[in-house]
Amino acid sequence: MNKAYIALGSNINPRNEFLEQAINEIEQIKTTSIVKLSSIYETDPVGFEDQERFLNQVIEIETNCSAIELLEECQMIERKLGRKRELRWGPRTIDLDILLYNQENIMMDQLVIPHPRMHVRAFVLVPLVEVNPNLVIPTINKTVTEQLSLITNEEKRGVVKWIKKDGEDGSKLTES
Ligand code: AMP
Repeated sequence: MNKAYIALGSNINPRNEFLEQAINEIEQIKTTSIVKLSSIYETDPVGFEDQERFLNQVIEIETNCSAIELLEECQMIERKLGRKRELRWGPRTIDLDILLYNQENIMMDQLVIPHPRMHVRAFVLVPLVEVNPNLVIPTINKTVTEQLSLITNEEKRGVVKWIKKDGEDGSKLTES
């Protein structure tokens, strides 16, 4: 069995339903089971900042899929949930990034693991520390906890636990 970590993000309503649906789909991937889920965090957009805030979550999975099979499965789920990609860092129904696959370093045209920007993103590190604080990022040889301590407070303030409020994100997927 391989252990992998996936980051989920959505900033098109109903954001939490897109996260839930993606998690349901990930559970359906052959030989794959979800071991742990982080809380859901609401986060400031990074890169292209003039867009809605994101909901982000990280999961730990066990799988017999290879890393590349996992990428293909994730991309299928992104397509199924209707992700439209007009801007590189723009709005998205669901974004699935493979953060880590065992402790492997993978450098392929279509797949880089550890995810090359994961260690500078508070919206990845905060939920990842919650799931496994001792996890090592092999490319920088630091634990996620050590790496999070290097992130500025300002960036960390942009990542807050999300609790669903009445009327928020409540519309049905078909209406979005
Ligand atoms: P993004 O817009 O961030 O979702 O990037 C999607 C592209 O990143 C796809 O073409 C993937 O082939 C590529 N990619 C490279 N490494 C990864 C990774 N670790 N997880 C997900 N996508 C990746």
